[in-house]
Amino acid sequence: MNINILTIFPEIFDALNSGVLSKSQKKNIISINTFDIRENAINKHNQVDARPYGGGEGMVIMAEPIIKTIKQVKKNKLGKVIYMSPQGKKLNQKKVISLSKLKNITIVCGRYEGIDQRVIDNYVDEEISLGDFILSGGEYAAICLIDAISRNIPGTLGNKYSFLKDTFSNGLLKGDVYTKPEKLNSMTVPEVLLSGNHQKINSWREENSLLKTFLKRPDLLKEIKLTKKQKKLLEEWSSKAIL
Ligand code: SAH
Repeated sequence: MNINILTIFPEIFDALNSGVLSKSQKKNIISINTFDIRENAINKHNQVDARPYGGGEGMVIMAEPIIKTIKQVKKNKLGKVIYMSPQGKKLNQKKVISLSKLKNITIVCGRYEGIDQRVIDNYVDEEISLGDFILSGGEYAAICLIDAISRNIPGTLGNKYSFLKDTFSNGLLKGDVYTKPEKLNSMTVPEVLLSGNHQKINSWREENSLLKTFLKRPDLLKEIKLTKKQKKLLEEWSSKAIL
C-alpha cells in the first residue's frame, strides 16, 4: 500500500519509523511518502497560511500550496484523498479495514484553523475524524489512522492472525490477558488459563470477552448478531444486576 501525506510538519512522521510500522516499510509492504506543503509556499517567506476572510481568530492554510502539493503526487499514486478533520466521519475499525484494502491513499493534514474550504470541496474525497475533540494538527490523527490501517495489511504483524482476534474484530472487546508470573504477591491468574484444556480455555475466553463488553461497552452488543448461548448469558447477567 502506498500512503502519501501532505503536511507542513513532515518530521512528525518520523514517529512511524519504530516498531511494526518500521518493519513493514522495510519489507515494502507499506510505503509512506511525505510531501511538504511549505515547498509550495506562495512567497520567499515560506508563507502557507493567511487570515480568514471575514475576520476572526487564527490562520487558515491557503488552497494554492495544498493544491500544488496534491498535483506533485503522481496521478496513478494519488488514490482516495482524505482530509483529517474533526468535522469528518468518526473513524472505526470497519472503516480502517476497508481503507486497508486500497492500493493508494493521500492524507491531507490541517493546522491552525484548518484549510481553505475550496480544497475540501474540490480535491478531498472523504473527511475522517478521530473523535469529538480538537487536535492541533491532522498529523497526529494521520499517524493513528496509518498505524491502524497497517495492522490489517497481511505481512505487517509478526503473528499473521493476531489482528483477527483484536477488540472489535468480532464486534466485542477482547478478553483479559495475563502473562508470567502465575502468582504476584496475592494476585493470581484465572485457573482455567493454566489448565492446558483448550476447549475450556476457549469457552472461558468467549464468556470473558462477552462479559467485558457487557460491562464496559454494552452499546457494541446492539451492533452484532448474538448466538443463543450469548443471549442466555446476557439475560442471566442482566437479571443478576451485575452492574
Ligand atoms: N478550527 C477547526 C479545527 C482546526 S484543528 C474547527 O473548529 O473545526 C487543526 C487541524 O487539526 C485540522 O485542520 C485537522 O486537520 C486536525 N484535527 C483536529 N481535530 C481533529 C480530529 N478530531 N480528527 C482529525 N483531525 C483533527
